[in-house]
Amino acid sequence: AVEARDVKLSFGETPALRGASVAVEPGEIVAVMGPSGSGKSTLLHCLAGILVPDSGEIHFDGRRIDTLSETRRSVLRRDRFGFVFQSGQLVPELTAEENVALPLLLNGVKRAAALKEARPWFQRLDLTGLERRRSGELSGGQAQRVALARGLVARPGALFADEPTGALDSLTGEQVMDLLVSSAREEGTTVVLVTHDARVAAYADRQVIVRDGKVNALVTA
Ligand code: ATP
Ligand code: MG
Repeated sequence: AVEARDVKLSFGETPALRGASVAVEPGEIVAVMGPSGSGKSTLLHCLAGILVPDSGEIHFDGRRIDTLSETRRSVLRRDRFGFVFQSGQLVPELTAEENVALPLLLNGVKRAAALKEARPWFQRLDLTGLERRRSGELSGGQAQRVALARGLVARPGALFADEPTGALDSLTGEQVMDLLVSSAREEGTTVVLVTHDARVAAYADRQVIVRDGKVNALVTA
């Protein structure tokens, strides 16, 4: 499970989170929605141990992680988490397949074996033929799917995805969501995804709204 308890975080004078709480069960998919600037990305970065809250707690699998040292948090991120950033953030010097294989390489998997494991993701995400391209030679939607493959390749305990379908047309967005749903169902991956798209959010088990740095359950009339 992934959990934030009463998390507060400010950037200088700007409060981004003002007491945000959310709990996501193992294998559950939660969609985080809400207006621009409401704190969605900040919440995701806190849950993933990238940002440390000013106050409140972050827990993963029954363990408090916000009090861990930076080194231990980065080991946890590397071993257990996948993260798809809002801006994509592929490594420009690497090819698409090297980008996908990167989490495995960082975990000590040998290059040939890592590239072999990366390969089926190109099929799954409709990227066949693009394995050797560098990120500058990919479209926005292709780069986004490469980033998603990189997030899933090491079969993480939790995947945090910030607008993973933002650059995709609706059909490709649906394919991506099908893939996330099967990861959650088959691998037990806990998925927290930020999206503005109600159709994407509909694939989640549950939707929450971030407003003014707090999390509310979606109330449907
Ligand atoms: P969007 O939908 O536009 O991506 P968001 O809900 O993800 O928005 P956040 O990125 O979490 O919003 O930002 C929350 C607040 O914190 C905003 O007021 C934003 O300007 C501010 N903020 C975010 N990151 C930083 C930063 N690195 N430095 C200063 N302020 C920041
Ligand atoms: Mg954001």
